[in-house]
Amino acid sequence: MSWLNSVRNVLPFVAKRETPENLWHKCKGCGQMVFTKELEENLHVCPKCDHHDRIGPKIRFAQLFDEGSCSELPAPPVPEDPLKFRDQKRYTDRLKAARTDNSERDALVNARGSIDGHRVVVGVQDFGFMGGSMGLAVGEAFVRGVEAAIEDRVPYVIFTASGGARMQEGILSLMQMPRSTVAIQMLHDAGLPYIVVLTDPTSGGVMAAYAMLGDVQIAEPKATLAFTGRRVIESTIREKLPEDFQTSEYYLEHGMIDMVVHRKDLREQLGTVIGYLSAREAA
Ligand SMILES: [Zn+2]
Repeated sequence: MSWLNSVRNVLPFVAKRETPENLWHKCKGCGQMVFTKELEENLHVCPKCDHHDRIGPKIRFAQLFDEGSCSELPAPPVPEDPLKFRDQKRYTDRLKAARTDNSERDALVNARGSIDGHRVVVGVQDFGFMGGSMGLAVGEAFVRGVEAAIEDRVPYVIFTASGGARMQEGILSLMQMPRSTVAIQMLHDAGLPYIVVLTDPTSGGVMAAYAMLGDVQIAEPKATLAFTGRRVIESTIREKLPEDFQTSEYYLEHGMIDMVVHRKDLREQLGTVIGYLSAREAA
């Protein structure tokens, strides 16, 4: 054991919140140090370069919903580790670690609430939970979110953030693609809007399923949105891709999404969109 490690082990325990790393945050956009408190007050958007930091369900709900209106839906029970999968680690151990780090059951959390007075069900995918990967739990939560929206006769809004399908669940994770598509059709049959907000990063099987099927497609600025990674495409077509390829702005320019909305305007913009669509439904 090195001298430093032995000293570190006898040092008194310091609560995590008080360490300088938590007081300061290094921006992934500009690399500058930002005061964590300032970042939080600025909706987790860098005050220096406007980089939109990744946020999980709890923070998103707090930013979005009218005060006191949020009520989270319980995580639906699903079979765990159906394939008894193991690579370097057991899948059950990976799940356990992710749950300890995130205090969530899995990578998609739903909540009922209201945005600017409009009742709605919102699902938020958490990239911090195993890369937001889509397995049985995410698929099931998506379906439950849609069912809750149908029950309440309100729109379903999904915030996507995912690396794609959860490989530890093999074919069962891929089956969530058609499954979520059928759920969206149920919402349409009930005459209710489905709104997608793409956040950084959304890719793979999620991008090829419910992330691109919204009646209205919104994205946060400069989010990476892709089905396949840039390098794979470049080596397949043997061409250099444009610099802004697979960003929100590129998708907007090419007619793939409806708008790119800054986080500070998101609440109001969603309220407006839901207002328009609900008025149409009422008529
Ligand atoms: Zn920055």
